[in-house]
Amino acid sequence: MSGETRPRRPTSALVTPASPESTTPAPPAPTTREKRPFLLDFFPLETSDQTRLARFFDRLREGRVATTRCPKDDLLLWPPRTACPRCHTETLEWVDLPEEGRIYAFSAVLGGAPLGMEADVPFAVGLVDLGGVSLRLFGRLVGRAWNELHVGLPVRLEPYDIGDGRWFYRFRTQS
Ligand SMILES: [Zn+2]
Repeated sequence: MSGETRPRRPTSALVTPASPESTTPAPPAPTTREKRPFLLDFFPLETSDQTRLARFFDRLREGRVATTRCPKDDLLLWPPRTACPRCHTETLEWVDLPEEGRIYAFSAVLGGAPLGMEADVPFAVGLVDLGGVSLRLFGRLVGRAWNELHVGLPVRLEPYDIGDGRWFYRFRTQS
């Protein structure tokens, strides 16, 4: 202990009752970026020792956006699953999704962005109907400013490198 004394915060109805740990002075604010807590992380863990859906992310690295399909039910599943929600089989196949789609709805993030995305504000997110399949995917929309988007605009589904070893997908407007 440093012996440093700090003024105690006034208590209020909103303060959680003190536990023995909470009487310890708080450490100084970190000067470096903290490791993101997983539950607040926009992107999931991707390796095979972390998820049974690692093949989804492996395919993104190959330039493909894929999902699972139940051959027994002829059911295309999104997001990718480890078991069919209808027949419960775990014998699913991986299929690539169509790349072309059109914006069904969109919105702009003008504030309150998720951790790690604060510098991207403003940015657009939306729902996209993929061509030829009955799937409507949610994702980030890039390629045009959010106020230049419109419903029905053609977009292309693309994998992208987050930059920390992980990959995800997003939609890019087609000019
Ligand atoms: Zn099934």
